[in-house]
Amino acid sequence: MKMSNDKLDTPVQYLKGVGPKVAKLLSNMGVRTVEDLLYFFPREYEDRNRIVLINRIIAGSEVVLVRGEIEKIENKNARGRFSVLKVVLADHTGRINAVFFNQPYLAKMLRAGMKLYLSGKPEINLYDGGIQLQVREWDMDHGGKPEILPIYPLTEGLHQKYLRNLIRKALEERLALVEDRLSNQIKKRYNLTDLKPSIMTLHFPVDINAVEAARYRLVFDDFFIFQLGLLIKKNEIAEEKGIAFNIPEKALLEFIGALPYKLTGAQQRVLAEIKDDMSAVRPMNRLLMGDVGSGKTIIAALASLIAVQNGYQAAIMVPTEILANQHFEKLSGILSGFNVQLLTGSTQKKGKKQTIDKADIIIGTHALIEENVKFKKLGLAVIDEQHRFGVRQRAKLAQKGSPPDILFMTATPIPRSLALALYGDLDRSDLDEMPPGRKPVKTHYVPPSKRREAYEFMRKHVNEGRQVFIVYPLVEESEEMDLKAATVEAEKLQREVFPEFKVGLIHGRMKSDEKDKVMSGFKDGKIQLLVSTTVIEVGIDIPNATIMAVEHAERFGLSQLHQLRGRVGRGTDESFCLLMADAKTGEARARIKAMLDFNDGFKLAEVDLKLRGPGEFFGTRQSGLPEFRMADIVRDEKVLKLARGAAEEFIKEDYAAARDLWLGQRKKIESS
Ligand code: ADP
Ligand code: MG
Repeated sequence: MKMSNDKLDTPVQYLKGVGPKVAKLLSNMGVRTVEDLLYFFPREYEDRNRIVLINRIIAGSEVVLVRGEIEKIENKNARGRFSVLKVVLADHTGRINAVFFNQPYLAKMLRAGMKLYLSGKPEINLYDGGIQLQVREWDMDHGGKPEILPIYPLTEGLHQKYLRNLIRKALEERLALVEDRLSNQIKKRYNLTDLKPSIMTLHFPVDINAVEAARYRLVFDDFFIFQLGLLIKKNEIAEEKGIAFNIPEKALLEFIGALPYKLTGAQQRVLAEIKDDMSAVRPMNRLLMGDVGSGKTIIAALASLIAVQNGYQAAIMVPTEILANQHFEKLSGILSGFNVQLLTGSTQKKGKKQTIDKADIIIGTHALIEENVKFKKLGLAVIDEQHRFGVRQRAKLAQKGSPPDILFMTATPIPRSLALALYGDLDRSDLDEMPPGRKPVKTHYVPPSKRREAYEFMRKHVNEGRQVFIVYPLVEESEEMDLKAATVEAEKLQREVFPEFKVGLIHGRMKSDEKDKVMSGFKDGKIQLLVSTTVIEVGIDIPNATIMAVEHAERFGLSQLHQLRGRVGRGTDESFCLLMADAKTGEARARIKAMLDFNDGFKLAEVDLKLRGPGEFFGTRQSGLPEFRMADIVRDEKVLKLARGAAEEFIKEDYAAARDLWLGQRKKIESS
């Protein structure tokens, strides 16, 4: 057993014919071990059963594959980087000109009478009007039964034929060592083919129709293992001994009664779920999903109240300092009987060990999770806008208690179906109801020609006592320049457009007391128009602001635009989102159109994912998504659901076996 693993773990460099240079190229594509190579799958196939007869070729069509004999070779002496080699290829139906670009060495290899496979794009030759084939791939035809050949992703310096041979050899020598860890029962129940033949088929299919089933097997494996991991984690947490809080019903009722509004039905339901969790011995591990403005903060306050009434501390972690300040002010207001404290980068005593012993509720940024910050008795950790934190950061806060109950909160940056997959280790609550009286935000596209009009619109609203956000994008590469743009623009707006009002400016580079001053000026209505970078993107709650203008709206992702739009429409007044953009590309236009068409964060997340694809959508690994070998979380959504169900069944039927399987796999993931 041990031996076999070692052999799959061997660096590719130790395969015959792979030198350090090729090893480097392979490693650039993520292939380091022999096993990686076996799991490095082709992006498409060249099916040599699908030969096109030469007299059937249509100019301008997709890539075709032809098979024939060389009649003639021209430009035998072509040389240098921009050489063109012309070959006349004939089959029994006719002849065609084929051109090879920049491969002068072929002149020496090819000669009349040779039999070839050529694939390429048929195009009209502008000189003689005939059809010519621009060759992409070529191969000798040694006769025999036509094969289906894999076409692998390549990198500069690595050739298709070389990689094909290398993988073929690796399969011959080492495929036998791959272990199929799924039981026959699961394979039968979910209609899965065996692993080894599936891998073989994916590389060198005998029948192109078998590829799909093989792919399904590999996709299933990816998702199945991933889901097993999440479910096992969930089980392990459930077995931990946490705190069984007493629910202070009277205090909760009093607190709720003192609010200026009634809880929505959804808020009441979620509160009941949290009460169940918090009163149980196992630690709460719950994700609260609710669209922007659905009223998550008050839920955090209620959960905190339960903890502090039991003599524990509650910590609320948020991604920005501005948001920490806002929560701090709000919660110290409504929880006035308690000691509420703020801990951010600027309030923290640098480098000093800090034990928070007096506070009941601590609101803070990443500063909360620094090594030197110790809680006296942390009972509840709330992580607001949790998608803005990495997996590690989230775990770090949990480690400050032993173990505390955890409430994750998020607006909806991902489609609902994916949430199931990604957060499969958490219990979930949906805040799927908006507080009453909200009017949907009216969204308008403002092209450059309508800018004047937009300013007049803002003026009218400010004259009626309302306030306006004007947001500028911050692109990391040129932060300086963007900041300058926002600063210059704020000055210009003040001087030339709105001299009768006060225009404020806020951005991430300002000192925190400056930021505070501007934010409170805006909150108190001393500033009417606030120019800002995206530091105000999440969480900020100023119900009197009714216009959100986004400059260069074409540069923002949909989820971000939705978050920004969520800064208005928080009171009962009609609110507006103005997308100031010059949408030139199709994608920019599609995004703006989606903003005009949809008000629902889930729906927009779906569109966003489709427009940008999973890579960009999920960005870094922060999202907690592993790198799958074969699966694509968007395209393979159906299999994801199946695998989730299968993992649940497996765990129920044989927990020990499930855990075994996962542990074996995890070792592999962690060692790579
Ligand atoms: P989010 O879910 O985006 O964090 P907030 O918690 O900031 O939303 O709440 C948005 C606004 O709605 C706040 O001004 C809050 O006071 C208000 N709010 C919350 N719950 C209710 C309710 N049940 N009825 C009326 N207003 C509410
Ligand atoms: Mg919030």
